[in-house]
Amino acid sequence: MLICAASNNAGKLKELRRILERMGHEVKSLRELGIDLDPEETGATFAENARIKAEAFCRASGLPTVADDSGLCVDALDGAPGVYSARYAGHHGDDAANNQKLLRELQHVPAGQRAARFVSAVCFMLPGGRALTVEGVCPGTVAFAETGHNGFGYDPLFVPDFVGLPSGAVTPNLTRRSYAELADAEKDAISHRGRAMEKLEAELPQFLAESEA
Ligand code: IMP
Repeated sequence: MLICAASNNAGKLKELRRILERMGHEVKSLRELGIDLDPEETGATFAENARIKAEAFCRASGLPTVADDSGLCVDALDGAPGVYSARYAGHHGDDAANNQKLLRELQHVPAGQRAARFVSAVCFMLPGGRALTVEGVCPGTVAFAETGHNGFGYDPLFVPDFVGLPSGAVTPNLTRRSYAELADAEKDAISHRGRAMEKLEAELPQFLAESEA
């Protein structure tokens, strides 16, 4: 199926594209479709924001559209930055400033109390407005310093509890590598976005069949 991968975030778009292509879909980005839109994320939840984005970009593209809203929820910060993850330090999408602020906020929080989880809500919308929203979660901890250079956003600070194996299986992250130290497939197998997309893949056939009925 030809799908619009609706993200203005280059790191997220790269992941959405590779996961959708692995699922066998043909992907068009917003740039490839000539769409220059930045819908306001006014929702209180990841799911609400994913739907807002899917709706705006589906209308603009006229294509089945996948949008993700995601973020990092830190226990010691009562779930912050949460839906504000992209603009935690003030400017939308300033990854370096966001990471510095997170380290600052957690500077007095000891190792045993740095639990966090990444959450991704993915909304798939068909032209006409029928939508399927799924959610994926990845548990882990926030490190004391950045490590690794892959990925984007909070990747260098987030240590997932598990990592993926080339076989597709999952194993405990015994060497405590950050998201930014994982190869693409190692991250996708356990990441919040990978988990959400797995659910989408599982639920899509029935959703599409019901849409045709
Ligand atoms: P959104 O575009 O409003 O969903 O912003 C999500 C923000 O959460 C991004 O700007 C990143 O800061 C962060 N984020 C979401 N997913 C990831 C990820 O896989 N790795 C690192 N940071 C992420």
